[in-house]
Amino acid sequence: MNNQPISTIFSEIRKLKKEKEAVILSHYYMPPELQILEKDGGVADFIGDSLGLSVEAIKVQAPNIIFCGVSFMAETAKILNPDKNVLIPDKEAGCSLASSITGADIRHLKARYPGVPVIAYVNTFAETKAECDICCTSRNAVAIAKSFESDTLIFVPDVYMGQNLKAKIESETGKKMILWHGSCEVHEQFSSASLGTMKQMYPDAEMLLHWEVPKDTVDESLHDHKGVLGSTNDILKYVGSSASKQFILASECDLGATLRGMYPDREFITPCFKCPYMKKINMANTLAALKSIGTEQQANYEISLPSEILKRAFTPIKRMLDFV
Ligand code: SF4
Repeated sequence: MNNQPISTIFSEIRKLKKEKEAVILSHYYMPPELQILEKDGGVADFIGDSLGLSVEAIKVQAPNIIFCGVSFMAETAKILNPDKNVLIPDKEAGCSLASSITGADIRHLKARYPGVPVIAYVNTFAETKAECDICCTSRNAVAIAKSFESDTLIFVPDVYMGQNLKAKIESETGKKMILWHGSCEVHEQFSSASLGTMKQMYPDAEMLLHWEVPKDTVDESLHDHKGVLGSTNDILKYVGSSASKQFILASECDLGATLRGMYPDREFITPCFKCPYMKKINMANTLAALKSIGTEQQANYEISLPSEILKRAFTPIKRMLDFV
């Protein structure tokens, strides 16, 4: 199959989607060929960030969801659609951030800081979410943190996003934030030295920085206020609202492909750090996952969670979605 022309694989996936009553949800960090909507000649039914995909997962009518993203995202889709089959093309598509914390860690934090609300970034596995008060994404984290009356909050697991948020939350609300020590192995690679060199090379470019980039890099890169710190969605919107023609992107490499597709008249300079977990998903295993539906192989791709975790993780995700 790997020798098949890509157009043949596209056609086969589109045909099978109909036959198997499946939809494909695809994250912005997927390889570019999985970031083309079916209406534009590709195979995806929806492309988005983790919050956008969670919202879209609720609306799905088809009985089968192929989730082209990493496993914590597919778990979220399953929690929101317990009666549907959610398949991920490679179950090994993990995440360094999600793996940095467990449900037991949250229980220990709660015992150490009784009564302090725990906000979990959506980049956590279901058994961690099940122990938390609310989930958030990089898009709604600030609004969620501000919504709590408590003067102290626990934010897990991303220490860099936590530090970036902490500066904003503490200065705007006076709330204290207790952080965990997880990190995204992609975004933590953006150093102030490397981005500083790029800024010298492209002095007119604006900076596009994801919340998960280390705080000292953010402080150095944005001291002249040329650019934005935010979620994937904030970055996409910011480019649309900016008059600048040139941008330096500090986020996952393939978000550059999304941006180039959306804004072909702009130039994006992207130090290319790829997420090795996201890149486990490709056209070939997406096709294999589709083919497996209704066969013995389906279990190799299907997300399966204990019913208690499904139930308990639903509440913090639902609370998060109330902030959309
Ligand atoms: S980019 Fe970072 S946070 Fe996202 S899946 Fe990869 S390792 Fe996890």
